[in-house]
Amino acid sequence: MSDVLAAQTAPQARDPRTIGAPVVSLAMPRLRREAGRLKNEPVSGEKKVLLAAPRGYCAGVDRAVVAVEKALDRYGAPVYVRKQIVHNVHVVRTLEKMGAIFVEEVDEVPEGANVVFSAHGVSPAVVNAAEERGLHAIDATCPLVTKVHREAVRFAKQDLEILLIGHTGHEEVEGTAGEAPDHITIVNSPEDVDTLEVENPDKLVWLSQTTLSVDETMETVRRLREKFPSLQDPPSDDICYATQNRQVAIKKIARQADLVIVVGSSNSSNSVRLVEVALEYGAKAAYRVDFASEVKQEWLDGVRTIGVTSGASVPEVLVQELLDDLADAGYSDVEATVTAEEDLVFSLPKELRQDASGNRDARALGGRVR
Ligand code: SF4
Repeated sequence: MSDVLAAQTAPQARDPRTIGAPVVSLAMPRLRREAGRLKNEPVSGEKKVLLAAPRGYCAGVDRAVVAVEKALDRYGAPVYVRKQIVHNVHVVRTLEKMGAIFVEEVDEVPEGANVVFSAHGVSPAVVNAAEERGLHAIDATCPLVTKVHREAVRFAKQDLEILLIGHTGHEEVEGTAGEAPDHITIVNSPEDVDTLEVENPDKLVWLSQTTLSVDETMETVRRLREKFPSLQDPPSDDICYATQNRQVAIKKIARQADLVIVVGSSNSSNSVRLVEVALEYGAKAAYRVDFASEVKQEWLDGVRTIGVTSGASVPEVLVQELLDDLADAGYSDVEATVTAEEDLVFSLPKELRQDASGNRDARALGGRVR
């Protein structure tokens, strides 16, 4: 049994700071902190933190990070990774220290070397380019992104025009669009619908990026259907369970919060969406930080209740650092708001399912653990 699976099977401590928190698979060094950096200013009433659960690592991110760790373990450093394995600065820096080299494109990888494709997925053109270079590719694309790729291929075979709701330039959207470039049109926002033109309004289907705001996506679909009544739906949600769960949790907290702090990187789509959702659902202020050290003293002025959450690519250690700093500033009362339990574990990429002696890795099958 792998260390990760063993840790996830073990009963979790019921400290409110850990309820619902996914297991961190990366060996995280303790961050250097300035003790007492935030001042304990007087505020009328009790100061407290409402801690969202679920938050942090999702099954797809955990799998991708473990894939790089296992590849390093099996093949030795360096292991090349196309793009950031997941959108988190701390994860990328930590894996770099372990021997991963992050590149933008496969032509930067020496011929014959090992390369891991990130959780966001790649287009067939990238797979072909890696093959032509003789690279040993390990595909850490999240299975929920792969599902969207398959839908795109299937709809393109049916000669449908696919309206892909997502952000132009995001790696996931580039990968999905690359599956059927002649059939896909990207729709960035509800406002895009006004100017959208299609070839045949009776042969349309929509798909979406996995990490969008649920509400905004539904609004885009509503406007699309208003304009194109024959629009077909995908067979199931493309916005993944982790994105949805984190948004539900922060919605519940937002209206009680004077301030919401989201831990996550600026290029993490689901983290940025959490800030937007918090503001939409009543938080008086909301900010995203990569590290606790980025919290500004003035954000806490007159603040009694702080909501805290983190994006799907954020290791729990970063949230704990934030809670420690907030405790120093008088917010030591931490109340968990649990809106769902998550226990999904994905099997490792097939290239890593057997250990060096040919035995099956304990995570070969994935599934749910309790
Ligand atoms: S956020 Fe969703 S789609 Fe992205 S890696 Fe996590 S589970 Fe997969």
